Amino acid sequence: MIYKTRKTNTRESEAVKSGRFYAASNRRIQHKPVQRKPSDFEPTVRFAALGGLEEIGRNMIFFEHNDEIVIIDAGLQFPEETTPGIDFIIPNTAYLEARKKNVRALIITHGHLDHIGAIPYLMEKIGNPTIYTTALNKEMIKRRQEEFPNAPKIDFDVVKAGESRELGKYFKVEFFATAHTIPDSAGAILDTPVGKMVYPGDFRFDYDMSGKPKDVAMWKAIGEKKIHTLFLDSTGAGREGYSISERIVEQEIEKLFKKSEGRIIVATFASLLERLGEIIKIAERLNKKVFISGYSMKTNIQIAQNLGYMKIKKETVLPLEEIGKHRDDKIVLLCTGAQGEAKASLMKIANGENRYVQIKKGDTVVLSSSVVPGNERSVQILMDDIARQGAVIYNSQMLDIHSSGHAPQDELKMAMKLVKPKFFVPVHGYYFMRWQNTRLAHEALKMKPEETILVDNGQVVILKKNSAEIPEETVPAYYVMVDGLGVGDVGEVVLRDRRVLAQEGMVVVIATLDRRTGQFLKNPDIISRGFIYLKENKELVEELRKKIRFMIARIPQHQQMDADYIKGMMRDQIGQFLYNKTKRRPMVLPVLIEV
Ligand SMILES: [Zn+2]
Repeated sequence: MIYKTRKTNTRESEAVKSGRFYAASNRRIQHKPVQRKPSDFEPTVRFAALGGLEEIGRNMIFFEHNDEIVIIDAGLQFPEETTPGIDFIIPNTAYLEARKKNVRALIITHGHLDHIGAIPYLMEKIGNPTIYTTALNKEMIKRRQEEFPNAPKIDFDVVKAGESRELGKYFKVEFFATAHTIPDSAGAILDTPVGKMVYPGDFRFDYDMSGKPKDVAMWKAIGEKKIHTLFLDSTGAGREGYSISERIVEQEIEKLFKKSEGRIIVATFASLLERLGEIIKIAERLNKKVFISGYSMKTNIQIAQNLGYMKIKKETVLPLEEIGKHRDDKIVLLCTGAQGEAKASLMKIANGENRYVQIKKGDTVVLSSSVVPGNERSVQILMDDIARQGAVIYNSQMLDIHSSGHAPQDELKMAMKLVKPKFFVPVHGYYFMRWQNTRLAHEALKMKPEETILVDNGQVVILKKNSAEIPEETVPAYYVMVDGLGVGDVGEVVLRDRRVLAQEGMVVVIATLDRRTGQFLKNPDIISRGFIYLKENKELVEELRKKIRFMIARIPQHQQMDADYIKGMMRDQIGQFLYNKTKRRPMVLPVLIEV
């Protein structure tokens, strides 16, 4: 396979300074004289992913030919352990900002946040291109946009699966329906000057009652269009076999509903609209009332209902305030928080913080989702909490009550074989997942290494009719972090401080000096947070005070008035002293008060 990994880490947002981005690439561009071959004059299409290739989330990719650019998706990524206190991470659009007049279109595959979440932050910066997407996605994007009242109005071109649009002189797009966990998901077939690119976004196969995969004919028809490159979701590339049919999931959930005698509480993702719709149907069949807890879930269901994706009887869904008026065996409560998220609805219910519902003996709690890696511990704590209060819990490890929205290995191979592309690019996922996906392409299509393209975020790839090249060129793809209202103003320095504070704590030294003599007016005050407990370390504190007095006394005359010099020296020497004594490096904050 062709692959390149940058020597520098994209996570180092060294150029992110107070929200300004520098388009400088951190890779050396080599210029050497080359003999021009006929193939040098063939049309080329360049693409680069600005996110989604080294993580789960932040999906965004662009295609470029001459003065035209087409973008697919603009998602966000949730924070990691290495980015403490960050709300989320969005793609770096410096390259597109410099060429915003060339941006012809933003195509959105589906309404999940890892594909639409960054739109409010970057639409203006990339020149407000028209968004081409389906009706439900449009509503999901608009709902999120309401939280940003100052953002410019978005121009939508609403499409249906099967429809095509001209996107400029060089690009054309045709949409096709994909099976995922949210209705109205649509992949793109992008017609470019070098050939057709197929970009399904997140997808899997779904199955009919007899267990036959659906949509095979549609995928086959795509393959008959002679596809240049196929870009496939790698999120499920580590799982063997085929997806569990959503029908089996529904049957299992219905069985559980019939078995339970008390209230049923189902927690899942607010965006798993297909599943939510089916659960409401099951409740109707069993003559139960549905209550919804969680703002995002409520609004999502509303949107789906307004657009006709969910047909709910008038009396089925009732306001949560009325839950107390109904018999326990008539109640189904839908809520968010199956990942143990602290602010989500299920956690509040389990903690007794919900006004209308608390867990009680006889409740059945169904966690209808898989555990996203990294959330294992919070889910465990949540389940412990619920079990202690006497409820019965079911999760997807015990029963088939969840099916992932991402195609596992055999379905990925099925898609590859039906599409039969010349080239293959694994997208959506960490390097290892994409590497696994690439191996599947070698297996399923007998692809040669030079036909599979395993690149990182920011790496430019040049496609010609019969070749794919990876030049020595990258576009900026390092993190842009969103923290509260600030976009891009949290850089590597702020993050490093947060990590030090979290791991080592801090020591504040307050020294009061006489402005004229540079002498101490009193013993320096020392405050420690998260480092050591001062009352139990009197000896160390005394030594530190002595050290500080000694240090100040030795400051040369001409520097006695230089506060920056004194603070810098104190920081270094106190840091070294504390390290020698404790082998730890707390953040040292010297404060000089001159009177
Ligand atoms: Zn998705």
